[in-house]
Amino acid sequence: MLINLTELFNSPGKKQEISFPLSTEPIHYGGEEYRIEGQPEAVVTLTNLDSRKVLVQGQVSIELKTVCDRCLKAVTVPIRLDFTHEVSAPDTSGKEKMDEDDQEDETFMEGYELHLSELINNELLLQIPVKVLCREECQGLCPVCGQDLNEGECGCDRFVPDPRWSALQGLFGSEVSDAE
Ligand SMILES: [Zn+2]
Ligand SMILES: [Zn+2]
Repeated sequence: MLINLTELFNSPGKKQEISFPLSTEPIHYGGEEYRIEGQPEAVVTLTNLDSRKVLVQGQVSIELKTVCDRCLKAVTVPIRLDFTHEVSAPDTSGKEKMDEDDQEDETFMEGYELHLSELINNELLLQIPVKVLCREECQGLCPVCGQDLNEGECGCDRFVPDPRWSALQGLFGSEVSDAE
């Protein structure tokens, strides 16, 4: 979504509110897929700060559907975006080209147009939790048979031997593993 800010830059004190439905394309992040539930609406207020700066404030409530990191059950993660971002009018002083290379921050501006959806997407990525668990004490799946350990013990031997211990085990051969 591109929004032309020319009028806002030129209108001191002007405030403009826009609301629009957010894109519901699934988000791929950190090897996981996140689906957006329902049809969230973004509410964004644009405020003229001066002839070169516009303040972008936005609120969006999103429910992301993904899976538990440990047991792979479906999990809904509620995310509330509440961001403030300052955008600048393009530099027309002529030194624009020089600055372009060492520009590290994403400006989301293309000339006088603001890439609003990209800005919101970026805010959303910052809020996505690195690890999603269905609950803090989720037991996960058995690495041997794949049983959901939240539903009960499967009886597999999931003992991961200490490296020093396995050296000993090598020495004694099958005697150790036969011991009940
Ligand atoms: Zn889980
Ligand atoms: Zn098992």
